[in-house]
Amino acid sequence: MTSSSKNSTSLITKMYSHIYIEKEAENYPVTMRIKGILKCSEIIEITHYKDVFNERGQDFLMQKNRPKLILAVKRENLIYKGSPMCNSFGYENFYYTSCVMNCPYNCEYCYLQGMYPSGNIVVFVNIDDILESAAKLSKQKPFICVSYDTDLLAMEKLLGYAGEWIEFCRQNPEITVELRTKSASFANLANYAAPANFILAITLSPDEIIDLYEHKTPKLGRRIEFINHAVKAGWKVRICLDPVLYVRGYAQIYRKFIDDVFAKINARDITDVSFGVLRLPKDFYKRAAKNGVKTELFAYPFADDSQGATYSKQHAENLRGVIYGGLLEYMPKGKIFE
Ligand code: SF4
Repeated sequence: MTSSSKNSTSLITKMYSHIYIEKEAENYPVTMRIKGILKCSEIIEITHYKDVFNERGQDFLMQKNRPKLILAVKRENLIYKGSPMCNSFGYENFYYTSCVMNCPYNCEYCYLQGMYPSGNIVVFVNIDDILESAAKLSKQKPFICVSYDTDLLAMEKLLGYAGEWIEFCRQNPEITVELRTKSASFANLANYAAPANFILAITLSPDEIIDLYEHKTPKLGRRIEFINHAVKAGWKVRICLDPVLYVRGYAQIYRKFIDDVFAKINARDITDVSFGVLRLPKDFYKRAAKNGVKTELFAYPFADDSQGATYSKQHAENLRGVIYGGLLEYMPKGKIFE
C-alpha cells in the first residue's frame, strides 16, 4: 500500500462512526469487507433499512456532513428504466441502477436532497443480484448508468463496486455501462484493464463553482489529471459539464473554463462530452425545504412543468449558447450531447 492510499484508507475509517446493518445483510462479502475496514465504527443491528433511513425528524444537514452507513439488501427495483431528464446518448434501451443511495460528496445543487429523507448512505450489499438483473438485459444491448444516486468511485476503497461493474462489462460485452464520478483517484482503477464497453464519465466544473457549491469534491486540476491518466491507460472517457449553473458572470466563467480544460486535455482523446443546464425533479423544493436545505442557487424563481424545473427559457438558452459554442471549438457536433 502506498502512503497516499494508506492516508485515504485511514480517512475513510474516521468517516463513518456508526454502521446500521440489516440482519439479512450480515453475511454478504461486502458487509465483511466494510466491517474489516471500519473497525472502530459502532455496529447497530436493524430489521429493515427504512426503519432508519425513513425515520421522521432526522437532521438531514448534519447527516450529510457526517453520514452514517446503512447496509441493506435490495429486494425490489434492482434496475430501472432511465429517466427522460437524463441523456440516453442515443441508446434505445436506457437503464439505471442504484447500488448505493446518497453520496459522500455534498453538492449544493444535488437532486438527492429532494429525493431522500436522510443524508445517511445506504449500501445495498447484494450487488450480485443487481449484476444478475443487469446481465438479463443483455439481448437489448442496453446502456446502463450505475452511479447516478451516489459517486461509486469515491466509495471504491470501501465497497469495490466500480471494480464489480468493470468485471461485469468484461463478461457482458453487449452491455454498455457508464460510471459517473467527480472523484480524482486513478489508484482505484489502476489494477483493471479498461473494457471497451465501460465509460468513465467525469464531471467537470469551473473552480469558482467547485469552491462555492461542490463541497468535499476534488478541485478541477485534480479531475483533469485523472482524465489524462485514464485516457493514457486506455479508458473511454466522457466529460460531463452537468449541471451548468446560471451564476453571476456565467459567460466569462464557463468560456474560460472550457478553454482551460481543452488546453490541458487533448479533445481527440475524449469519447464525447455531455452538458446539461441545472434541472430539478418536480416538487424538489418541497422535499429539499423539509430537509432544511438552504442555498443561494435555489433563490432563482424556478417553476415546475411536466418535466421538472429549470431556469427561464431565456436564461437556459443563454447558458446553452455559451457552453455549446465553447465546446464546438474543440469537439465535433456529433460528439456533443445535451
Ligand atoms: S457528486 Fe453527484 S451525487 Fe454526489 S453530491 Fe454531488 S451531485 Fe450529488
